[in-house]
This record gives sequence, structure tokens and C-alpha cells, in this order.
Amino acid sequence: MTIHQPPLAPAIDPVLLDRLAETAIRVGLNLQPGQDLFLTAPMAALPLVRRIAEHAYKAGAGLVTPFFSDEEITLARYRYAADASFDRAPGWLYQGVAKAFSENTARLAVVGDNPMLLAQEDPAKVGRASKANSQAYQPALEKIAGFDINWNILAYPSASWAKQVFPGEPEEIAVARLAQAIFAASRVDLDDPVAAWAAHNTGLRSRTGWLNQQRFHALHFSGPGTSLTVGLADGHEWQGGASTARNGVTCNPNIPTEEVFTTPHARRVDGHVRSTKPLSHQGSLIDGISVRFEGGRIVEAHAGRGEAVLHKVLETDEGARRLGEVALVPHSSPISKSGLLFFNTLFDENAACHIALGQCYSKCFVDGASLSPEQLAAQGGNTSLIHIDWMIGSEEIDIDGVHEDGRRVPVFRKGEWA
Ligand code: ZN
Ligand code: ZN
Repeated sequence: MTIHQPPLAPAIDPVLLDRLAETAIRVGLNLQPGQDLFLTAPMAALPLVRRIAEHAYKAGAGLVTPFFSDEEITLARYRYAADASFDRAPGWLYQGVAKAFSENTARLAVVGDNPMLLAQEDPAKVGRASKANSQAYQPALEKIAGFDINWNILAYPSASWAKQVFPGEPEEIAVARLAQAIFAASRVDLDDPVAAWAAHNTGLRSRTGWLNQQRFHALHFSGPGTSLTVGLADGHEWQGGASTARNGVTCNPNIPTEEVFTTPHARRVDGHVRSTKPLSHQGSLIDGISVRFEGGRIVEAHAGRGEAVLHKVLETDEGARRLGEVALVPHSSPISKSGLLFFNTLFDENAACHIALGQCYSKCFVDGASLSPEQLAAQGGNTSLIHIDWMIGSEEIDIDGVHEDGRRVPVFRKGEWA
């Protein structure tokens, strides 16, 4: 009898892939002995998922439950499903997932789908499917946004994604180059990834420490097409790198991560801002975004490409027009220096300063875990079914920290820490 192994593209180094799996379990999740793990991934990422399961059980996992998606099956819906299908979502599944989270199951998401999968599909159907899914997913998202449990997102270099990042290359070369970029950004090409992550987390902590001392009332972004004042929530706290979930486990929710981030004030954002990189949202590309805020709310929104999808996103609910996150990333970050556009938020948001529409993170408040939803809202925290990051940073962006008395402190100059 032979054990079936899925074919691993020869372009992907098996040693580094195994280190990525180990880093996901030891650094990303810091999975605890006896803890269960719920895992989602595209079918193409099976070689990584199998290694993750091995490392999870070696670390003492109780039960690893994987859940796969498949691009062809997603497309089959758009080709053949009845119209009513686009308002459906597996609420029963997400309720089960929420229940698992409330019983301390850890959450791992492997990303790697073709970012342009749905680019040719009807934006109205894409918007409806996305809204139905966001609504059904809400019970589970609440526990992720509230940081109830340790969770992590990381990436697998699937062929369909690689071909979008390196459109001129043959498939094997494209996969090899994307794999290399993912391994480098995830710090698993270094001899001791666990030690490298500890050092990286220390560096991020010194940035959040300084920002938390400053207690800025607002940040002001200026650059080409951008003059934006982002008020910061009352009692906001800057976060970055490793942090501790409510279940007491210290994890790194994103691999890679280069950002420090906090909660903007949902009612104190004013001015206009232009995106500096395209945004891939659930298989559609939105590019050349320019929006104007008044009193925290987007009152005007345009996009050079994907404007219909952008407008659908903004119509999701009242909070979709307001900010839930502001994040600082220097232009010299390793992911930015790679010069690549990944069409994937996990990577592109770590190459540039960004803001996110929608739901805020309660961990980005001082004592956030003990605040009620009403208290969070009163302090300026935003609520929404969506959380969508888009990039506004570049080497041309200056950022000032603004104190309540109007005093200004340079934070970024020409895209770098001042
Ligand atoms: Zn972010
Ligand atoms: Zn975000």
C-alpha cells in the first residue's frame, strides 16, 4: 500500500514549506497542547495543510479540522447557479465555527486563491454573494475581531495566484518566485525563524510603545491627492506583531506582518484620500480609489476600475462607510522593497500605510477586552459586517501626529518613520 501524496510543484522547496508550517503552529498560532484547530485553505494548498496538521499534532493539538475551497467549484456557481443562489451562505457552518471558537478552538486561514477569479463575473452577483457571506459569517467574525482566541493567516504559493503576480513567466517559474517571496516575507528562509520572529516582534513593540506614549488625538496624512485627518478613537491602543488573545495565548495573527495599527475614531475622519495600490477584494480588482470623508463618513467615492464593486461594498451597512483601522508601514519594509504587487491584502497591506473600512478591533483599545460594544462605540469604535484594508502609503506620504491642543509631531516623512 502506498500513501498518496499530493503533487508538490518542484518549484516549491519542501524544507522551507515545512518551516512555514512549523512557523504557523509555533509562532503564528502558538497552538497549545490539547487545543483544537479549525483550518480553512484553498484545495491547491493541500501540501502545506498536511504539514501544518503534522506540526499541530506534534505540538499536542486535540483535533485538526480542515475545510477546503476550490476555484472551479466557486466558478461553477457563477456559471450555473439559479439567481437566488447569490443570496445564500452556509450560516449553519459559521454558527458551528463560532461555537468552536467559544470552546477555545484556534483558527488558521491559508490564503492563495487567484485574486482575479471573479473579475469577469457580474459585480452585482459578486456583491450579493459577498454580503450574504459576511452576514452569515458575523457570529464567527465577532470572536475573531474581539480576539477571543489565537488565530493566524498565512499564504501558500498556488499556481493561479503566482500567474497573476508574474504574468510574463511560465507557471513553474512564477510559482518558484512567489514561493521565494512568501518564504522571505514570512522569515522562514532564515536559519531560525522562531528567533527571527521574536526579534521582529521586539522591533514592532518599540514603535507601538512610542505611539502609545504620544497618545495622539489624530494623524494627518498628506501627499499627492491626499489630505486626510484621521481622528484616533478615545482610549485607542497601538498594536503590532505578537499580541495576547482573550484566551491568554500570545500569537502572531498575520504572517507576514510589518504594520503597527490602531482604531480611528468613526466620527472624526475628514478630507480626501487616494489609494496607492490596487485592492483585490473577493476576486475583483478595485483600483484608483479616491474618496472624501466628512465627519467620519465617506460622502464621495470613485474608482478607476471596479467602481461598481466599491459602491456595493460601501452599501453593505452604515459602518462600511467609516474606518475601523489605520496602520503605519514604512516604505522601506521588506515586502515593499520586493517591488511586487501581490494582489493579496495579507502582503500588500504590509508594503504600505493603509486604512480599513468597517469593523474595528477591540484589542486596539486600552483594556478593550473589558469594554462593552456600547462603550467601544462611544469611544469611536466602528461596527460593520466588513473589514477591508486598502493602501494609502507611498514614498510621497508625510504623516503628522496631532495632539489635542493642535501641537504637531512628525511621524512619517517621505514614507519613512521620522
Ligand atoms: Zn492592517
Ligand atoms: Zn485590517
